[in-house]
Amino acid sequence: MKFRPWVLIWSAVLLFSDPSFSQAICGFDQIYNSKMQSDPGFRKRIESHEAALQKAIIKLRNAPPKRGIAALFTIPVVVHIVHTGGAQGTIYNPTDAQIQTTIDYLNQVYDGSYPGTEGVGDLQIQFVLAQRDPNCNPTTGIDRVDGSSVTGYTANGVNVSNTNGADQLTIKDLIRWDPFRYYNIWVVNKIDGLDGTSGTFVAGFALTPGAPPELDGTVMLATQMGTGKKTLPHEIGHAFDLFHPFQGSVGTTCSTNADCTVDGDKICDTDPITQPAAFACRTGINPCTGGAYSINTEHNFMNYTNCTTLFTADQKIRMLASAETVERVGLSTSRGAIATYPLNPFVAPVAASCTPVTGASGLSDNYAGILNITLAGQNSNSSTAALDHGYVDGTGCINLLQLQKGTPYNLTLILLGVNREQIRVWIDYNNDGAFDNATEQILYVNNIPSAVSGFDTATISFTVPSAAVENAVLRLRLTEELSTFYDPSFAISSGCYSPTYGQAEDYPLYISAAALPVVLEYFRGSYMANISRLQWKSSSELSLEKYEVESSTDGQSFSVIGTVVAENNSNGGTYNYTDRQFFVGNKFYRLKMIDKDGAFKYSQIVVLQNNDHTNVGTWILNPFHDYLDISMGRTSRQNIRLSLFDATGKLILKKILPPDQNRIHIDLASRNLSNGIYILQFETDGIIEIRKIIRQ
Ligand SMILES: [Zn+2]
Repeated sequence: MKFRPWVLIWSAVLLFSDPSFSQAICGFDQIYNSKMQSDPGFRKRIESHEAALQKAIIKLRNAPPKRGIAALFTIPVVVHIVHTGGAQGTIYNPTDAQIQTTIDYLNQVYDGSYPGTEGVGDLQIQFVLAQRDPNCNPTTGIDRVDGSSVTGYTANGVNVSNTNGADQLTIKDLIRWDPFRYYNIWVVNKIDGLDGTSGTFVAGFALTPGAPPELDGTVMLATQMGTGKKTLPHEIGHAFDLFHPFQGSVGTTCSTNADCTVDGDKICDTDPITQPAAFACRTGINPCTGGAYSINTEHNFMNYTNCTTLFTADQKIRMLASAETVERVGLSTSRGAIATYPLNPFVAPVAASCTPVTGASGLSDNYAGILNITLAGQNSNSSTAALDHGYVDGTGCINLLQLQKGTPYNLTLILLGVNREQIRVWIDYNNDGAFDNATEQILYVNNIPSAVSGFDTATISFTVPSAAVENAVLRLRLTEELSTFYDPSFAISSGCYSPTYGQAEDYPLYISAAALPVVLEYFRGSYMANISRLQWKSSSELSLEKYEVESSTDGQSFSVIGTVVAENNSNGGTYNYTDRQFFVGNKFYRLKMIDKDGAFKYSQIVVLQNNDHTNVGTWILNPFHDYLDISMGRTSRQNIRLSLFDATGKLILKKILPPDQNRIHIDLASRNLSNGIYILQFETDGIIEIRKIIRQ
């Protein structure tokens, strides 16, 4: 059997110049076209990402996002200032306030509120300086590193088209936050020796989402930070899959546009154009269409003109779809964007009993890999086998997943699907560091077919067992490998399996106790006319099955006297229960509230009192039918004389009962009484008591 590799090559460098100072220089077409023609791996990578992107675009077109609501995606950014030793506020070391202003401007452009905005307006993507750093500590989202020790940096900054300064990777390696959790922006002194204060210069560059993580991010000049400077909005456009509108044109030769979703910039509401000369905002006839130039290209932030005011509706759709791709989706759910962190402190999972080795020879060619996991609203991203080296320890605090017992969850995995694969997933529920196939495995699938798009999705529903260790961070392990279709020895036999071509990944997973089945607002009771009436109200019910009503005469030993089925309404419910069991003195009641999974808790105890000892027949079954059932309300010293009369006063029966009678049961079935009112008379200890009862 033969399986196919999928080689990753970093994507094209995108150059951009500030129009107010210089001629645009952009190597995108040259690099992109060259790579597409000469590098099959690059082409495959671009095609796979584009296929996934197109699926997301179609989904968005079928269900377009509503306008006027909050941003659909909020992206945490970290700004790394690579200065040259100058104080904050000097040319290459902008202040925090300057950086915040630049992010504010970016957000105004992206929500359409910047004055003069045209086009689609609100892109529904916003950016926030990171609130939590990769160790989950509070942060400004800005860090500063002195790059002057890097050879060539002070004199020439970062290289793009020559080798005088520092390689971009050297600068990015100085400081980088997890590119799947933060969008990295490096602010540099110079690019190719120019700082943007005069002459022709490259203002910045960004890589498209498919770039290997170590190259992802924007590099831009410190002098291009600030309100009204379009470099950052432009580069962020590239970061979310936008091309220049003149993409595909060469000199005065226009791009083909037979299929606007495929050709040129792959955007249908931007006409094909040639690259503008001298940043001209062109009007008149567009030679690529034969019609008039449109502001959709000439005012477009992705073009090289002096009048950039807009993104188009189709660009918005493409950017939103890009934000959902496997390479970007981890940004918008990053804990880095949120000031609060759910655990304090975060305690990492116990050490694993085994760690898959990372050096298998088959890893180098990207035959397989786990790209993304989604669980309980959190995404965790990683790359493929060649870049992740077979094992990813993702158990840091920033990847924290949270589950609750008793709640069903879906785990969704995106796998590199160019070959048939298998996947096995465990949660170390008993927190012993090992992965038990019988009790801790939540998914095993072999022979997942390869996908045309290059991506496979696997989903499993599961519920955390009640026996799982709770209030602790446990280890989630996923092991992925090529299918045994290719070789039986690929079988993932245990959590200790070391992939030959696939990947193993660990993530931290906090499990909290099951939600209380019910929140009681009150539980109370009253005792009147020989009847205990209990009432309770819940404010919420979640997976609640029933209430069992328990009573006790001593407040210690309770027994079940009835059951009330729960409405199981998230807004709760109101309930009544009537206990006609006669008592004297105290009677204790409580509720046992039982969840559908068997978990339960008790209400507080309600005590009712009956101090009324004067009644003789304290409790009488009324109405009655063919028997009398009477509980005696007091301990009499003398015999009890009991008489039953009909409504006309005619004596029906007379009985003399001994003293200390607790309960009286008299069968009337043979007497053929008609329905109606009857009078029951007790006489004992000198007391005569008359009670009206009804036969029905
Ligand atoms: Zn560009």
